[in-house]
Amino acid sequence: MKRIRPDYYNLFTCTANQCPITCCQEWKISVDPDTYHQWKTLVPPKTISMPKSNLADYTIQKEDFTIISLNEQKKCPFLDEKKLCQLVTAYGDCALSQTCKIFPRDVHIFDTHEEETMMPCCPAVIDLWNQKEILSFPEKFENDSVLFQIRSAILHLIQNAKMPLEECLLEIFYILLELYRNEPVTTEMIDDYFSSATVRQLKNAIEEIDLPILHTMKECNELIQDLSVNYKKEGLYLSYLNPILSLAKQISEGYEQMDLQHQWESFYCEFSSFQSLLRNYLSNEIFSNLLMPDADLKDMIIQTQWIALEYTAIRQSLFLKWISDGSTSLKYETVRDYIVIISRMTGYEEDDIYEYLENSFQELIWDWGYFALILSHGNDIK
Ligand code: SF4
Repeated sequence: MKRIRPDYYNLFTCTANQCPITCCQEWKISVDPDTYHQWKTLVPPKTISMPKSNLADYTIQKEDFTIISLNEQKKCPFLDEKKLCQLVTAYGDCALSQTCKIFPRDVHIFDTHEEETMMPCCPAVIDLWNQKEILSFPEKFENDSVLFQIRSAILHLIQNAKMPLEECLLEIFYILLELYRNEPVTTEMIDDYFSSATVRQLKNAIEEIDLPILHTMKECNELIQDLSVNYKKEGLYLSYLNPILSLAKQISEGYEQMDLQHQWESFYCEFSSFQSLLRNYLSNEIFSNLLMPDADLKDMIIQTQWIALEYTAIRQSLFLKWISDGSTSLKYETVRDYIVIISRMTGYEEDDIYEYLENSFQELIWDWGYFALILSHGNDIK
């Protein structure tokens, strides 16, 4: 079957022991059944400090999955002091689990073709996106259903619109809700809703809406605290989470509002200097996650909500980190690290996304006002 992929895909190289946030640490590394059976027959490499009888003994069961049991430092037991994989050194790539072999690659198999992308959970992928002004995605698909047409129109809007990314997302969500309300969707409807005239009208209407940034901050602080609960409990990503969560708590308990508003204004200037990278990040999310195999328009709306939630969690984490670091410049490495960490924390399967949203919100499909609340970038700041 035909496989398609974005232009950056073949440029990826794992930086291995040079990696600033290795995927062999603080993560649930799943072990597929075939690898598990193979591991039952393999003895651990001699270099491992606490040898067990076979490799399968280094795994545990967690929620129907077999995963590698991390050591006390929350690292993969096969990672050596030089940050190299001892399984690769001893047995080569063939002893790795599927997850380790393919990460950070992702593939979605549709009836008509397969789509390959990369996940933002790897710093080397973010480095690639940071080096490119704009990412290029395949435009012609074997499958030309209205859902693929909608995804193409959304990708075109996010890559070409001359407005802040938050406003692009607000327009996209509005159009998706309208299309959903007026199903069945036709090509003519898609052309009309994504035409320059409609996009401009929507932009003008959105600019008229007052979206107080302090309300946004309160809600986003709650979102980031909710997303972090389980990771805190398990002691994961603490060096990234602790500074921002303690500040989020302080802000909830009372913080000088004018200070916060001015700090946001300064932060947003810094944050906007990473617009190209963030546009590439969102474009990739839209290409890879907006339309999953067997999805319908409702699923696309849910995925749009999740993408927006991830974006606001990244933005809010960076705001809090920027304040806790003294409100000076925002470094590329900080932006990269929080994109990676938040992506690892929110990289849920589709069913888990549904479950999270159902448990956390009154309605599975948000109203546009809530979407706008979490995405506001403070257009009340003059
Ligand atoms: S996170 Fe990416 S660059 Fe780092 S070790 Fe894993 S695959 Fe390699």
